[in-house]
Amino acid sequence: TGQLIFVGTGIQLAGQIGKLSESYIQRADVVFSLVPDGFAQRWLHTLNNDVRSLQPYYAQNGETKNRRDTYQQMVDVIITEVNANKKVVCALYGHPGVFSCISHMAIEQARLEGFTAKMLPGVSAEACLWADLGIDPGRCGHQSYEATQFMLYLHQPDTSAHLVLWQIALAGEYTLTQFGTTKAKIQLLVDHLSQWYSLEHKVAIYEAANLAVHAPRIEWVKLADLVHVALTTISTLLIPPSKALSLNYDMLAKLAITETDLG
Ligand code: SAH
Repeated sequence: TGQLIFVGTGIQLAGQIGKLSESYIQRADVVFSLVPDGFAQRWLHTLNNDVRSLQPYYAQNGETKNRRDTYQQMVDVIITEVNANKKVVCALYGHPGVFSCISHMAIEQARLEGFTAKMLPGVSAEACLWADLGIDPGRCGHQSYEATQFMLYLHQPDTSAHLVLWQIALAGEYTLTQFGTTKAKIQLLVDHLSQWYSLEHKVAIYEAANLAVHAPRIEWVKLADLVHVALTTISTLLIPPSKALSLNYDMLAKLAITETDLG
């Protein structure tokens, strides 16, 4: 009977995938893939004879297509194979369920239809970010948003924590048809962020390396200069805290401790 498993291949080619995920790929009847480049795609073909890229469902040259339709078509083609009683594995780069909707949609659909479906975690871009930038997000906490969602909804950044904005190259692209944004929209994001952060505040454009022989891109710029830097589909924005943690004195009182007790 059919089953569906989503696995993450990590960001860096071949080296960041879990042993269990790799063995699921090897034993699958069909593997669907969304990976960063041709190297990763060819590597998947060395693990399984039937690997089908989901990339062609994105708008091709000159075509205008809503990404919602893309995602639905991807889910449909995956579910069709599960219905044909195949062991289906979907190998997505990074973590398959982090800032990635098709895994959640397909797993829900497969379960509704009575099939076994699950997700294995992977090494996400954010996991690489903490490693490459040498930051422990637990030291002062962190918030993580999709850049456009951060603009469209009333999120309140906690400026004493790290703020991570995903898909920064698409900030303000609400039509779901474009693969880039405009300087004017990045400027709107900068203006929006300036409610909480100084325009002089240093932020980092981060791009983890897809290949072990490459170095990550870590470019620190002033918030005001974000409009001038090159942003790509793999850019993630990190905004470090701009103020120190503030103590919750009410809680300290309830715990019957003082600031000096915290050492
Ligand atoms: N599921 C993926 C994320 C998919 S959303 C994961 O777990 O990493 C796509 C966004 O992820 C990009 O816009 C970017 O913000 C981030 N991303 C993808 N590849 C990246 C890379 N090599 N370096 C930094 N961020 C990356």
